[in-house]
Amino acid sequence: MLAQRGHAWLLHGPSGLGQYGLAVALAQAWLCDQPTADGACGTCHSCHQFEVRAHTDLVVLMPETAMMALGWPLGEKAQADIDDKKRKPSREIRIDAMRDALEFAQRTSGRGRGKVMLVYPAERMNQVTANALLKTLEEPPGDMRFVLATEAAHQLLPTIRSRCQGAHACVAGTGAGPAWLQEEGVPAAAATALLRAAGGRPEDALRLHRGGLDAQAWSRWPKALARGDMATVADWSPAQAVEAMQKLCHDLMAVQAGAAPASSTRATCRPPRRCPR
Ligand SMILES: [Zn+2]
Repeated sequence: MLAQRGHAWLLHGPSGLGQYGLAVALAQAWLCDQPTADGACGTCHSCHQFEVRAHTDLVVLMPETAMMALGWPLGEKAQADIDDKKRKPSREIRIDAMRDALEFAQRTSGRGRGKVMLVYPAERMNQVTANALLKTLEEPPGDMRFVLATEAAHQLLPTIRSRCQGAHACVAGTGAGPAWLQEEGVPAAAATALLRAAGGRPEDALRLHRGGLDAQAWSRWPKALARGDMATVADWSPAQAVEAMQKLCHDLMAVQAGAAPASSTRATCRPPRRCPR
């Protein structure tokens, strides 16, 4: 992706596959003073500015709730309004933030390596905000690059999608996923089972691990449920239990239709011979 040209990239695919992390890494590499084929160097002045989230040539457009959760600073006025309880943090990308970003796009780059706009989750732009971005994508200022990341590309304006080069994140097989999970502190014995529970999506698997999901309990619970034994799921939160049941229903239908289950094993997806009384 680094070696390819193109001023605007759209990183898309289902949730849990790291589009946000990839967008951040790409933005940092574009701005880095000494980028390598693998990405940003991590040591130059630009990388330092990026890592402390104070890069003068980077503008980040996210819903304010997401910026706060991911540790990005809000603009002075927005922060003051929220501190003074004049309004709540926005759950979508605000048109004011987009206007500021477009003004930034017209300025000269401070460090001479161009400027970058990062938009995530890109589907959280409303019609007005998306149209404002579209105009800039159509006539980009010379040294501006864009990276949009989304887990719901179908909700974007088709004209925005067609203005960007696309990179589709795919569900990992058994290759890199477990190794990455182990690097993040998941025990080796649980990594593969958690990845399966998350339908092959590494970030979702890590979220399940951090939420306290026991990988062994996951593989046992469909059969336990079929027996009417609720002990395995007794400690799950309602949200975890609903998510688990949605996944099981999906997999039972998949298996019935002759497809492979996404989050369970084939053995756990066999319907019981007769219903428990
Ligand atoms: Zn660097």
